[in-house]
Amino acid sequence: MVEKGVMVEKRVSIPRSSVPGIVSPAIPGRMASLLLSLLYQLDQTQWLTPEEIFAHQAKQLRLLFSHAARTVPFYQRRFAEAGVDADAEVTRETLDRLPILKRAELQAAGKDINTTALPKSHGKTHQIETSGSTGRAVRMYGTEVTNLFWRACVMREHFWQERDLGGKLAAIRWSRKGVAMPPDGAHGDSWGPASGAIYPTGPAVLLNVISELPDQVAWLRKEAPDYLISFPSNLMALAKHCIERDISLPSLKQVMTVGETVTDQTRRLVREAWGIPLKDSYSSEEAGYLTIQCPEYDVYHVQSENVLVEVVDESGRACGPGEVGRVLITPLHNFATPLVRYELGDYAEVGAPCACGRGLPVIKRTVGRQRNRLALPDGSTVFPYLGDHGDYKAITKAVQRFQFIQRSINEIEKLMVVSEPVTPEQEEQMRALILRNLGHPFNVTFTYVDEIPLSPRGKYEEFVSEVAG
Ligand SMILES: [Zn+2]
Repeated sequence: MVEKGVMVEKRVSIPRSSVPGIVSPAIPGRMASLLLSLLYQLDQTQWLTPEEIFAHQAKQLRLLFSHAARTVPFYQRRFAEAGVDADAEVTRETLDRLPILKRAELQAAGKDINTTALPKSHGKTHQIETSGSTGRAVRMYGTEVTNLFWRACVMREHFWQERDLGGKLAAIRWSRKGVAMPPDGAHGDSWGPASGAIYPTGPAVLLNVISELPDQVAWLRKEAPDYLISFPSNLMALAKHCIERDISLPSLKQVMTVGETVTDQTRRLVREAWGIPLKDSYSSEEAGYLTIQCPEYDVYHVQSENVLVEVVDESGRACGPGEVGRVLITPLHNFATPLVRYELGDYAEVGAPCACGRGLPVIKRTVGRQRNRLALPDGSTVFPYLGDHGDYKAITKAVQRFQFIQRSINEIEKLMVVSEPVTPEQEEQMRALILRNLGHPFNVTFTYVDEIPLSPRGKYEEFVSEVAG
């Protein structure tokens, strides 16, 4: 249970003690102490008003901007060109004057986007893998400080969602082919570096997401985990599979999602299949946690202590509640590769203030990525309406998995994994349905494949554009 200002867990979890002979209350080790002291602060800052939260961010941004303008060649030029005094107090107007940072600019900047003088106290750096759909990878770095905030957010999510860290955590996620395969998957004795640093957690088990649904079910029934984490697309397929066959997974208390957009349908299916809630979060390699689902409502709270998130329309104006716009991020503590108003390529809908009382800004939902938008001949892009699964099923039940790829401004290719051949007549019906849904006279072709490739981030995507990205 979470009360204002204090962290009170339903079940009291005592941290692991670093002093032999002392167990309760524990004297935690270095990493655990750092994380717990951050969590203590996060527990208070979540209840501040939006203005107070921005005031805290502005103080941190001032130090970040000053550091960036002094030690990062790219920002030396950027701040000068924008006419922004990087040492001055940061206001909303300061941000408006700083240009949006595009991925292409970041790639073109090369080494110039990194600091030439990282403060020693930020610890060692590590390379961050950014896996964009197109173009060169961006070479950027994180630090021990950014790592610490990442872990603190992991723990905050566990506390917000009242998870019993002594339980068993099952993950059905992307792994290299041949790794964590059924029937056994892979086994670990801790939930991970964040939880494991503080608590003696329960075990964690992993199954490769390329496993067939019957294998996933058999594995889950054998492992009997308390929590299951996976991609929404996989969970939806698994939930449908269980509903259709009346399969129960009685050990599950909560489903956790990462990586893809969660829709109302995803939540509905999970509840219908297993009678449990779905708890989602939204993160990026570049900034760690961006949002975590509210403990009480199906909306998301921005992790404002970690990152400044802006949602802006096409003209760069801040979106209000109910409006969908581009997501810009400014990680507050990355002094190795500062990102200022970086356009992530995701779209989100701004939400109204949350009834839970937390002052952390609200995102109602994320809508998807640029690469999942359909490019139209007039130069605009839209999120494609692919239609109802049932309409496709009415034509043929042979399609097990599919993916639409926009190859050019006029061409759409549909990849399909089928259990039996699709007839030319069925292809024609399908083509008509696709054109009706997309609303434009694309040239639609069909290709039959053995499997649908996952995205660079290991996600299953129903629609990918090679043009819109
Ligand atoms: Zn809330």
